[in-house]
Amino acid sequence: MAFELPQLNYDYSALEPHIDAKTMEIHHSKHHAGYTNNLNKAIDGTEFENKSIEEILKTPNLPVAIQNNGGGYYNHCLFWEILSPNAEQASNDFIALIEKSFGSCDAMKKQFAQAAATRFGSGWAWLCSKNGELSICSTPNQDNPLMVGGCEGTPILGLDVWEHAYYLNYQNRRPDYIKAFWDIVNWKAVEAKYQASL
Ligand code: MN
Repeated sequence: MAFELPQLNYDYSALEPHIDAKTMEIHHSKHHAGYTNNLNKAIDGTEFENKSIEEILKTPNLPVAIQNNGGGYYNHCLFWEILSPNAEQASNDFIALIEKSFGSCDAMKKQFAQAAATRFGSGWAWLCSKNGELSICSTPNQDNPLMVGGCEGTPILGLDVWEHAYYLNYQNRRPDYIKAFWDIVNWKAVEAKYQASL
């Protein structure tokens, strides 16, 4: 049972000007497709072949090809889901949860931006759910919070800070990309992931 590259719910150009169409096309059809194909190759004929991606990622001491490509497959699936060309606002209940966890929505965004901006080299910033509470962390490469030794919790929102995610439009200006991200977050999808994590 092979993993499949998911279709996007929006066009490559739909997130402009925040994320440009060329970046989206290459990111989805080349990078994400590559992780998907290489994950399928890496699990072929192994104990991982019929496991869910979550089960695979939670396994200790993963072979490095499965860690990198399994993470790449999962992280990008999540990333496309939590983006939207339309402003999908958070509910009052979820805003209250953010305020309880971080003091305010602005404080949450500031902490998240800090995690994303200070990740040296390639990686991801995450908003996680653990025991009903929210937390922020970052991971290197294609690692994620589900992995053993990761920052722990269930990722419900993630931002790709690999240069392939923003370099065509933003070059070295990663903070501008992080700032633009908030305008295209699908909070309904984030909230659904939070509910599913409970
Ligand atoms: Mn990426």
